Amino acid sequence: MKKFVCSRCGACCRWPGAVKLTDAEVDVIAGFLNIPLADFLENHTVITPDRKHLSLCEKENGECEYLAVDSDGLSLCLIEKVKPQQCRNFPGKWNFPGWQEKCAGEYK
Ligand code: SF4
Ligand code: SF4
Repeated sequence: MKKFVCSRCGACCRWPGAVKLTDAEVDVIAGFLNIPLADFLENHTVITPDRKHLSLCEKENGECEYLAVDSDGLSLCLIEKVKPQQCRNFPGKWNFPGWQEKCAGEYK
């Protein structure tokens, strides 16, 4: 069975859309960052447009706050160990029409 191999292009951390967080993820990420929960909620999350979820903040350029680039130019998630399930689930468990044109990864 083919397995998806991410090329670490970072596109999925840059395109528009909210990274929704569960309550458990909020706790875990705040703990990983070693900041108080109230600080994380106030300064690192926003309410989604439908007002039903919290999501991660974006930088001014629209990319996720936790996207970085390593010395080889490859994308790097600063909260990789605790990144939200939504991030882990792309593209196998959710995607959208035409996603393969925007994602440089491949099934091999
Ligand atoms: S949490 Fe990590 S994997 Fe998810 S969008 Fe942000 S940088 Fe990308
Ligand atoms: S868009 Fe695809 S290849 Fe690029 S970082 Fe995201 S999953 Fe990996």
